[in-house]
Parts: sequence; C-alpha cells; structure tokens
Amino acid sequence: MAKKRRKSSSKFFIILFVLFVICVVALFIVKPEVFKSITNLFNKKDNQTTINSDDLTIHFLELGVKNTGDSIYIKAGDTDILIDAGSTKESASTITKYLNQYVTDGKLEYVIATHGDKDHISAFVGPKGESGVLDSFKVDTIIDFPRTTKTTTIYKDYVAKRENLVKQGTKHFTALECFNNENGAKRVYELSKGIELEILYNKFYEENTTDENNNSVCLMINQGSRHFLFTGDLEKEGEDALVKNNKLPEVELFKAGHHGSKTSSNDALLSVIKPKIVCVCCCAGSDEYTKIDDNMFPTQAFISRVCKYTDKVYVTSLATEDQSSFTSMNGNIVVTSKKDQEVMVNCSNNNTILKDTEWFKKHRKWE
Ligand SMILES: [Zn+2]
Repeated sequence: MAKKRRKSSSKFFIILFVLFVICVVALFIVKPEVFKSITNLFNKKDNQTTINSDDLTIHFLELGVKNTGDSIYIKAGDTDILIDAGSTKESASTITKYLNQYVTDGKLEYVIATHGDKDHISAFVGPKGESGVLDSFKVDTIIDFPRTTKTTTIYKDYVAKRENLVKQGTKHFTALECFNNENGAKRVYELSKGIELEILYNKFYEENTTDENNNSVCLMINQGSRHFLFTGDLEKEGEDALVKNNKLPEVELFKAGHHGSKTSSNDALLSVIKPKIVCVCCCAGSDEYTKIDDNMFPTQAFISRVCKYTDKVYVTSLATEDQSSFTSMNGNIVVTSKKDQEVMVNCSNNNTILKDTEWFKKHRKWE
C-alpha cells in the first residue's frame, strides 16, 4: 500500500514538472523579453562587479568640413589618446580646439594613425603654413600602420611630421611591433587604472594588399568586462581574418568599419562582437563617393547587417539636401563608461538614434 502511494506521488511530481517545463517553454515563446531581462540582470551584475577602473570617455568628432573622415579622442583617467585626424587638412583647427577642452597638459600620451588614407591623417599635417594636430600637442607615443602603398604628398607630409616628433623624443612603433612586443613596443598598454589599450592582430600588418583600408591598425580598449573595438577602415577580408586570428569578446561599442560602408561591418565580425552601441564617423547622405543613395554612408547594406544587434546607432554629421554643405546629425558623439553605471551616450546636437532620424525615414529601411 505504502509503495503504491509513493509511486502515485512521484507520478504527481513528474506531471507537475512536465507542466512546469511546458509553462516555461510557452512563456519563452510568448514573452521572450522576460528571459532577456533576466539574462540582462545577470550581465549587468557581471559588468558592474568587474569594473573597478577610472572613468573612460570616447569622443567621435565632427570635423568641421563636409567630407567624411575619422577622428576619435579617448580619455582614460588622465591619459589622452587620439585615433586618426581626418578628414581634410582644414579639420586640424576643429580637432585641436575640441581636444584643448580636455587635454589639460598639452600632451597626447598616444596617437594612433590607422592607415594612410587622407581622411584619417590629413589633419595631423594641417593646411600649408598653419598648425596641424601633430604641431599642436606634445606626443609620447605614435602607433601606426606597418604597411602602405601610399605615395601621396599628404602621406609624405605625415611621415615628415612624425619623424620630426621622433627627433624630439616621441616614441614611434608600428602596430606589428606592438603586437610582437618588439623594440620597446607593447601589445597591451595600461592607460589608467583598470583601462588598457590592446593592439589586435591584423594579418595585413605582414601581408600585402591592394586595398589601403585593409592596412588599418585594429585595437581594443578594455575596461574590465567592457570592450570597445576600433578597426579603422578594415574591409571584409581583413575582418574575416581579424575574427580568425584574435579571440574577440562581445563589445559595448564598435566604431562602424569604414564609415558604415557596404564592404565593412560584416556578419562574420558582428556575430562575434555583438555590439551594443555602434558609432559611425561620416557625413550621412553625402555624394562624396557615390551618387547611388543606398551606397552613401551609412549604407543600407551596413544598416541591414547591424540592425540585428542593436538600434543604438549614432552618426556624426549629415550632408545638406543640396549637397553644398553639412550639418550635425548627432554631432560629436560622447560615450562614457564609469564604474557602477551603464555605458551612456551623449551627443552635442541630439541623442536621436539613427533609425528615428528624419534622414533615415526618407532614405533607409530598418531591415
Ligand atoms: Zn576612411
């Protein structure tokens, strides 16, 4: 008799368990967001407990001209880093003025030039007879691209300015020397308490390519469990190899590859890094490189790939309808990551995400 009761009560628990599983599965199908918020809760806890660092601020700059280009200023504690100085020589005064608000000691600890295209190095040089960014600050260390096929005046002028700084005591390393920890260069630089700059391996540091963009220096800023990825103008072939050759984590922030072009920010990379925030340095809707609307930065192909991961996409500038000039989209985009706080985005013009902008509604689809 007792045996029978035990048997029926265990049957009861099995039925109860099956019902519970069915309910959980049904809830997952009907309301997946419940599960997402539960996982988020764990992630958040993880993020907050593993961050014990100084403040990190990343600025994606407007460049004072209609041309698309990159210039990204990073402040990690008291350490100042500048990645690229585009888009034209005339951008030098805009960048210098912006940096002067934050670089209180007149010195950039690290300057990184990702590759030799003019929209990334012109403002380091500046207009003839005027100061470039490299003339306006003391620089501790310059890290740049090991390979280039550039023979342009702007490239030569950049090298001349760099060598002039080296004569005055600035250290200069290529990204390959950094990756290999050679000649005094380091793969990982401690920028500030709990924040590091890590040079990633791009196979085109060592292999020839006909596409200058693939020569780009690739780097990660690590702040505990938070990661921020910068790949310059790296193209598909470079991105594929980057994924293969580096153990990339999921990232808080990804600087959209190559200004949001159709050939960068591909699935192979995005599916690994799963970015939460994407910042695009470009003049949206400008016909600088193409007359085809879908292919103007940020391209429809880029949006169609990135929309699977986040809607937090921000863009610096916007071309006017008549193409004669530019205005701010988000303006200067400032991403802040502090201990015990979620990563925040604050922009100089407005904080409207790309898909909610008037330009987007007129020119792009979120799909
Ligand atoms: Zn570029």
